[in-house]
Amino acid sequence: MSLATVSAIALGVAGNFVYDYIKDVPVIGYIFHVLKWAYEFVTGTLNWAVKVWAVVFFGLTVYGCYYAVLFIRKRIKPPFYNYRQDTFRKWLWKWDWEYTKGKWQVANLRPYCKPCDVELVEMGDLNSSKSKCPSCERDERYQELPEEIIRLIRARVDKKAYKKEE
Ligand SMILES: [Zn+2]
Repeated sequence: MSLATVSAIALGVAGNFVYDYIKDVPVIGYIFHVLKWAYEFVTGTLNWAVKVWAVVFFGLTVYGCYYAVLFIRKRIKPPFYNYRQDTFRKWLWKWDWEYTKGKWQVANLRPYCKPCDVELVEMGDLNSSKSKCPSCERDERYQELPEEIIRLIRARVDKKAYKKEE
């Protein structure tokens, strides 16, 4: 063999060796792997963000609907809304309607001296309570319990036995 032939064979062997070496280093596979990981990270983060926003949006929608319904129900006045005064037994009583806990309830109930149409002043001790009219100064034993009056008002509303006052 000539030197040239030996050199050519040697180069060929070395070239094959280098090629085999480079082929076994998964550079392209590694780069692809990194890109794939980056892609999955970005899309995963976006998906997560989308899910978070979906939950937030759903929560806000439910919250908004709840308050919208409450707002509408408070604004739609019931037919008995103007029924806000009546006489039970001796006293004239006045009250307001308030929408609380999902229904219209008697609120701010107060007794009046009927002839004077003046709110009574409650005076009492532990054993008894009295009411006095600041106008005619009539003292009366306070016998009409507000809890009883609330039930009487409700009974008249339920039976629609109240006077409609505008
Ligand atoms: Zn009076």
